[in-house]
Amino acid sequence: MIRINSIYINGAFTAPHGTATFDLISPIDNTLQGILALGDEEDVNRAVAAAKAAFQTFSQTTVAQRIAFLQQMHDAISRRADELTNIMVQEYGGSILFCRNSTQNALNSIQTNIALLQQFEFTRKAGTATVRLEPVGVAGIITPWNASNSFICGKLSTAIAAGCTAVIKPSELSGRQTQLLLECLHEAGLPDGVFNVVNGLGNVVGAAITAHKDIAKISFTGSTITGKTIARGAVDTMKRITLELGGKSPNILLEDADLKTAIPMAIQAAYMNSGQACIAGTRLLVPASRIDEVKQLLKENMDIARVGNPAEEDTLIGPMVSQKQYERVQQYIQLGIEEGAELWIGGPGKPAHLEAGNFVKPTIFVNVTNDMRIAREEIFGPVLSVISYKDEEEAIAIANDTDYGLLAYVSSASDEHANHVAARIRAGRVLINGLKHDPMAPFGGFKQSGIGREYGVYGLEAYLEPKAILN
Ligand code: NAD
Repeated sequence: MIRINSIYINGAFTAPHGTATFDLISPIDNTLQGILALGDEEDVNRAVAAAKAAFQTFSQTTVAQRIAFLQQMHDAISRRADELTNIMVQEYGGSILFCRNSTQNALNSIQTNIALLQQFEFTRKAGTATVRLEPVGVAGIITPWNASNSFICGKLSTAIAAGCTAVIKPSELSGRQTQLLLECLHEAGLPDGVFNVVNGLGNVVGAAITAHKDIAKISFTGSTITGKTIARGAVDTMKRITLELGGKSPNILLEDADLKTAIPMAIQAAYMNSGQACIAGTRLLVPASRIDEVKQLLKENMDIARVGNPAEEDTLIGPMVSQKQYERVQQYIQLGIEEGAELWIGGPGKPAHLEAGNFVKPTIFVNVTNDMRIAREEIFGPVLSVISYKDEEEAIAIANDTDYGLLAYVSSASDEHANHVAARIRAGRVLINGLKHDPMAPFGGFKQSGIGREYGVYGLEAYLEPKAILN
């Protein structure tokens, strides 16, 4: 049995003041793997005090010093990259392919911030004024379970690049992954108090971070409902907020799309990270004239969507992170049937021979209409809704008819055609003909998918306050 009895404050592993614990259960077979000690409000106070004290000197560091710290952070994590990947597979149940990518994303985010610092202008002119971009203060970082260490590294490396210090609350479901990352970060030898980590529950530790007057900014990734709670709580102390929330991303197959490539991509987009991805392409929009072809191709390509042991190289879909998440996905599959969508592939229950874990059958509904709850709500599991449209105007209208606006996918034989449609989509990112990513490009949502942007210049500026000096 693994016991994680410490949190991390002021450069040291330390016992929390809080006395509650959290059971770490394997999603692969539902056995108890470990027990995580949880912090409380008092631990947040101690962590914030350490971060506040460290900010005095860290905010004055030079760009060259911060680049060196980021490089140390990168190297320490890089030395244990395989272990970080493997523990993610075991604790969270993500497929080995996805987890490897996630560790690489964590490392890339640090490198990207180094590259950014090498060119970023912290002093600019505006009219007659000199504008200094200064670190905002102590950052509160609150992260979800679906790529825990990658989110922590992305946010923390940006905070460090800006000259901010941080108090981090990872998801309580990620205790083992956090512990290993902390060992790496401790090894990196950053100044004491620059980062502090308090494991704990959202309504205790997360709420204390949200309310704390000495935290200047919150960077949060998680569900829209929690994001709203944080936004409400943050306003009392006028915190700056970056909220990366949920999505219900449309994947628009235009009339001229090459379905032989677009359909395998649609399956990957819907089922990435076992469907537990904010950017999953969960609404597949298909021209009515090509729906039969699409249905056939979906069946033919379902061998890509292999469910099983996440440690195996050819697995695309591992178990859902928890029994609760499994049940939530099951309820949505049942709901789709009750709403009158046609179950085309998959359905309720567990796949054969995978009864012990939280495995779901990859599921596709066809004849879905955009007013059904399975088309409107984020399911966060491997469930794809296929919606047909009569013409391009209707496709764009359906794509935009959602409370979310995180990402959209467009497939077309013509880049010009795809770009024309992309310009009319209300989403923070539009990917054309493939699952593309650039860590310098801004990432974040329109509408209820969030507030603000991460990555690149936009992400760094979210940790900075402009100060105009007029002589
Ligand atoms: P969640 O909102 O339940 O939890 C996220 C974090 O917030 C956890 O650390 C949790 O403990 C904490 N939290 C919970 N209640 C809180 C409160 N009252 N105050 C402060 N913190 C609180 O989300 P989750 O279930 O961990 O993750 C899944 C969700 O995250 C999905 O909705 C998904 O779309 C979203 N997500 C968004 C992005 C993005 O970049 N936009 C990326 C990944 C996941």
